[in-house]
Amino acid sequence: MIPASNHDPAEIARFDATAQRWWDPHGEFRPLHVLNPVRLDYIDERVGGLADKRVLDVGCGGGLLSEAMARRGANVTGIDLGTATIEVAELHALEAGVPVGYLRESAEDHAAHSPGVYDVVTCLEMLEHVPEPASVLRALHTLVKPGGDVVVSTLNRNLKSWLLAIVGAEYVMGLLERGTHTYSCFIRPSELARWSRGADLVMCDIAGLDYDPLREKAARSSNVDVNYMMHLRPA
Ligand code: SAH
Repeated sequence: MIPASNHDPAEIARFDATAQRWWDPHGEFRPLHVLNPVRLDYIDERVGGLADKRVLDVGCGGGLLSEAMARRGANVTGIDLGTATIEVAELHALEAGVPVGYLRESAEDHAAHSPGVYDVVTCLEMLEHVPEPASVLRALHTLVKPGGDVVVSTLNRNLKSWLLAIVGAEYVMGLLERGTHTYSCFIRPSELARWSRGADLVMCDIAGLDYDPLREKAARSSNVDVNYMMHLRPA
């Protein structure tokens, strides 16, 4: 059974309240701007080239990744439950002249009417904001074509990720708004792999994403202690 509304309205409202600043490279979404080229390259590589692929970006926010994937030649649809968020994403794509289709919809609802449509499904930095991540993973499996690719990213749950992603980013450096992340919702790679298996998705690869807030640099790494990405395929 797929829950019809597997989302936290307070979370969606919080992202909506800051939606005007999605594209401000100096605003609270700065870490995502810095991480974007690194995660884009990872996805491009893992899926064997984004060009001409039909891609769904789940929890697309203001469209940082959706637009970047479209610029690589993918045919991208972005979905998110935030009304202001989707408006900002639509306007930015229009102004930038990048063709991306946006819908205000959850992964579960989209899966109900578009099963097996996408070559690639991405869901970055969203699972740790959702009440039941396992349900989202089942929806991602439904949405991807047999033989297609799913790429997700999230934050690991341990002392280091708490210190860096919450204490450091929200309280010491003021990079993120306080309350952006809830430690108990962070997801260990073993949990993500377990829920994925439950959704008939097989893990093909895992990679860490290092973010250095002082130098404002990001890099792919083998260290999955904090931010990490996982490449999955339907079993
Ligand atoms: N994936 C984007 C944005 C991450 S921020 C990026 O990495 O650049 C998390 C986004 O997930 C927010 O825009 C929020 O509105 C959205 N979100 C949270 N829960 C959701 C849900 N259940 N369904 C769809 N979108 C959701």
